[in-house]
Amino acid sequence: MTAAPTLQMAAPRRGKPPRHFADMTTDERVQAVRDAGHDAFRARQLATHYFTHLTADADDMTDLPASSRDALVAGLFPPLLSPSFEIATDDGETVKTLWSLHDGVKVESVLMGYPDRATLCVTSQAGCGMACPFCATGQMGLTRNLSAAEIFEQARLAARACRDGALGGAPRRLSNVVFMGMGEPLANYNAVLTAVRMLIAPEPDGLGLAARHVTVSTVGLVPAIDRLAGEGLQVTLALSLHAPDDELRSELVPINTQWSVDEALDAAKRYFDATGRRVSIEYALIRAVNDQAWRADLLGEKLAKRGRAWVHVNPIPLNPTPGSKWTATKPAVEREFVRRLTEHAIPATIRDTRGSDIDGACGQLAIKESL
Ligand code: SAH
Repeated sequence: MTAAPTLQMAAPRRGKPPRHFADMTTDERVQAVRDAGHDAFRARQLATHYFTHLTADADDMTDLPASSRDALVAGLFPPLLSPSFEIATDDGETVKTLWSLHDGVKVESVLMGYPDRATLCVTSQAGCGMACPFCATGQMGLTRNLSAAEIFEQARLAARACRDGALGGAPRRLSNVVFMGMGEPLANYNAVLTAVRMLIAPEPDGLGLAARHVTVSTVGLVPAIDRLAGEGLQVTLALSLHAPDDELRSELVPINTQWSVDEALDAAKRYFDATGRRVSIEYALIRAVNDQAWRADLLGEKLAKRGRAWVHVNPIPLNPTPGSKWTATKPAVEREFVRRLTEHAIPATIRDTRGSDIDGACGQLAIKESL
């Protein structure tokens, strides 16, 4: 029997990326440096180059012995991400990059400059297994998890781009990272946590971001939320709720059939109790689907009955994805939705939709075949 050629056969080989400095613990870095015939203290020098000077280029590392520098760096810093496409909008203040991974798999990240901060939206998985029908990435299915270094490299390269004036000229510091790119971060828990720890570790062991400026966004994988709550980190949790009732949420966020609205909200509240960090509730407003006044009231009630000042709602007008039957809520309905939440003493701010014209806004990250 001859197998018919399939798209699958033509697809690039998908596999584990090579082990990188950013995948290693401090001890493993020392060991790797020793294995390469160098003194242990070189590990610290490499960390300073990588995390503080944001370079993985041997030519920049002039304090390492010239004769063996290239080999050492090549072994520890295999290139994991190469840019294959970049597009800017919002006067150069939003930049989307399409990265090619070592196996040809493509992922995207989006860098956004604001007057007071620079935020990177990172990808944690190639594709996503959560299948939310309004999300472009959700339609792709899951290709594979990213390694910790593949996730962290997005931030290292963005931090370098910020420093070098990529956002409208003036040098800036990358200040915020949100796990709102492709993938479900809590379904790739270990790699995401390793990356988070490098984002917040002080230099020269990490980028030194404030933990509260790192946001992990989830569909509501309850056991993983509880695990995250126990890590002793001050990172911000965002819960993608999108409906206050199980009937509709099970359609919009299919994992709801496993962990219900109430179970997800209870876990979010436990996260607040453990960390003191106010949780964000994400709510994509979809016209005549989840934007009714009664749903705003039900959401307000469910949040208010769990406590005071523990939560904040981020409604975002839906970014319609190609072929979707859904569209964004009208501004007046959106305002009424927010007003009703406020009546329940639940703070709510409409989230901006940066980059929607370059398919760089929330839920639009999917790889176009033409790229
Ligand atoms: N898997 C994580 C991260 C996904 S992206 C999660 O679901 O939280 C971050 C946010 O964008 C999520 O709240 C997601 O539901 C939302 N989103 C997805 N598609 C969208 C769309 N088309 N319009 C607006 N928001 C969308």
